[in-house]
Amino acid sequence: MLELKEIRKSYNTAGFIQKALDGVSVAFPKSGFVAVLGPSGSGKTTLLNIIGGLDRADSGEMYLNGTPTSGFSQTEWDAYRNNCIGFVFQSYNLIGHLTVAENVELGMVLSGLSLSKRKKKAKEALEKMGIGEHANKKPGQMSGGQMQRVAIARAIAPDPEIILADEPTGALDSVTSEQIMDILKELSKEKLVIMVTHNGELADRYADRILRFKDGRLVADSAAETEKEAETGFKLKKTSMSFLTALRLSLKNIFTKKLKTSLTAAGASIGIIGISLILALSNGFGMQIDSFQARTLGSFPITVMQTAVAVDPSDLMSAINEGLPRYPDVKTVYPFDRSESNLLHRNVLTDEFVKYVEAADRSIVRGLAYGRSAEINMLYETGGTVKRVSSSDLSVSLLPLEFGKVNSFLNDDYDFMAGDGKSSVAKTDIFLVIDPRNRLDKNIIALFGLDADAETIDPESFIGKEFKLIPNDVWYSDNGGIFSVSPDLNAAYASDAAITLRVAAVVRGKESSRVTAMNEGFLMRSELMEDLIAVNSQSKIVAAQKDANVNVRTGMPFSEGAAGEAMKNRALAALGDDVLPSSVYIYPVNFDAKEQVLAYLDDYNAGKEEADRIVYTDMAATISSLSSNILNGITIVLVVFSSISLVVSSIMIGIITYSSVIERTREIGILRALGARKRDICRVFNAETFITGVFAGLIGIVLSALATIPANAILYKLTELENVAVMNPFDTVILVAVCVLTSVAGGLIPAIIAARKDPVAALRAE
Ligand code: ADP
Ligand code: MG
Repeated sequence: MLELKEIRKSYNTAGFIQKALDGVSVAFPKSGFVAVLGPSGSGKTTLLNIIGGLDRADSGEMYLNGTPTSGFSQTEWDAYRNNCIGFVFQSYNLIGHLTVAENVELGMVLSGLSLSKRKKKAKEALEKMGIGEHANKKPGQMSGGQMQRVAIARAIAPDPEIILADEPTGALDSVTSEQIMDILKELSKEKLVIMVTHNGELADRYADRILRFKDGRLVADSAAETEKEAETGFKLKKTSMSFLTALRLSLKNIFTKKLKTSLTAAGASIGIIGISLILALSNGFGMQIDSFQARTLGSFPITVMQTAVAVDPSDLMSAINEGLPRYPDVKTVYPFDRSESNLLHRNVLTDEFVKYVEAADRSIVRGLAYGRSAEINMLYETGGTVKRVSSSDLSVSLLPLEFGKVNSFLNDDYDFMAGDGKSSVAKTDIFLVIDPRNRLDKNIIALFGLDADAETIDPESFIGKEFKLIPNDVWYSDNGGIFSVSPDLNAAYASDAAITLRVAAVVRGKESSRVTAMNEGFLMRSELMEDLIAVNSQSKIVAAQKDANVNVRTGMPFSEGAAGEAMKNRALAALGDDVLPSSVYIYPVNFDAKEQVLAYLDDYNAGKEEADRIVYTDMAATISSLSSNILNGITIVLVVFSSISLVVSSIMIGIITYSSVIERTREIGILRALGARKRDICRVFNAETFITGVFAGLIGIVLSALATIPANAILYKLTELENVAVMNPFDTVILVAVCVLTSVAGGLIPAIIAARKDPVAALRAE
């Protein structure tokens, strides 16, 4: 069934050509014991390697059941070694980190035999060799003869047709040698056993046939095969090692080198720790910024001013100076109207827009504030006399119009020193604001009739004090076209038309709130202001002012044209004919609702002429995009820097894998002899770097998780921010994957080197 014709093989070492086989033709029967004798260097091992498919002849042909093998592909050779050949070596060639049983199973693992079948076959083979009880030992714990029995068990377990034994008794004493010969003799009843030996006497005693070699030639054949057997053709079952098998094999190997693996993984994890901590910090800072913004910027209104910048501010300067060089070399003046620059948009705050904004969904808009320039006419009574409150004594600010709960802005932005936000719900309730140091101007204290020179004042003493808001028709009296403040303040104070204001609480802007910097003075509800404007816009003085070309309070004439028009409008607004506000502030219910509010405003603009559109300013977005851009920038730079350590660890893994390849060269040879493909060898090492990568990734994640504890403690001391470093689970998974990838990538070149190793040379390796 096996026939060689004119096989030649020579080796070229440094220009010297050594003929290892020189035209060998020989045919073998299906079974029988063939001994190959000859002096050292006569080509015996080369012959076995060629028959076994480990090596290829330079010329000549080998036939298997009449099929020529010269057309075999690499995978067919691998399958041939796995299915048809069983190798037995002088030096046993067992894999030290696997148990005896696992060594015996290895070839069947490669051919993809099921676990139960290969366990059964391995057990049978070991029992046949008389060493069934040693199945779970490691090869290192056995004697030479026992190891050779294991090697024979491994060779016969998959039930190959040919057993190739290269000096199997070379390392054994004579008694053990004879036992091994008995075993081979027994096997030769069913299989073809070709055994290389030095020992002519043993060959004479056991072999059916003896081939003598000298200088690569077959010089004597005790029983030349003459009669040819029926040629039945030849079939092979392909081998392949699954990645799972490779993983198991590598895991076993790694377990024998725990320290080395741990150190490698620890080294490789450093890069991951760095990146992971940076991401954790960036993630945490991002969350801190987000929640900070949601808290603080969430209370920022969207602003609509009379003039808004219509373009991206960064383009502004270049756009304004478009086309004009600096310091031109001409003596010319270019007329230029800054106000006509189309970059500045003039918002016309129409009744339509104000109504549109007021109709906004209450679930997204919490309140509105209008910029008002109406003057407030206020009187107070102290010690029996009525006095004016001048705006220089006491500023009056407006609380936003509230769409939702009463006093929600007040409660959010202010701390109460006296009174509270629950009982102060009347429209005419006003609130006295003191400064962040709890100070109040002495003039204001005097207004209340309290002792301004006292060291401290109980805030409760301001509560319940009354002020009167006087409408225009009571405040002003007509003196023939010119209006002046009515001299009878007592009458005005007592008038039915006067609106009584009550100080309901003393408040201070919260430290975290945007109103901290606000002046001390009164806070009045916008709702009250709207009522007042409704009344005052119908007043006599406003009607007179509308008709006059002079300021009806001073008699000063307005100038001609547009400038005069503007002066008149300002005068009317100050008198309370301020129906359209100068600016609008829209308060979203929270940070998240802001997008919807912006979309609502965009809807207003849809389909409108450029000039009729409203351009708004979203201060919060400007601030938050700036801060998140900075954070992202810093994160990217830091991640790139620490990625360098990933490159370093990748190279380190490469070096360590390469040394592992060197160390396991013989194992590579054994696996190849058992039918492993090049790709399978690659897999074994990829599996090893994969495992190392997973370990490294996990170590990295665990260590960085631990490192966030002291990092947070330090950051808390430095910044008073709690839990800054927070690991994102998604990042964690990605990082482990990156670690595995860099690790496998690092080991790829050594793995390929391993796969390309010549199996014959690998088996010879020490
Ligand atoms: P044997 O097993 O009979 O002692 P081998 O088949 O191992 O002999 O070697 C036959 C000849 O080929 C020897 O001269 C040996 O030096 C040479 N040879 C074998 N393998 C190689 C090789 N890989 N490179 C160079 N020469 C080799
Ligand atoms: Mg040899």
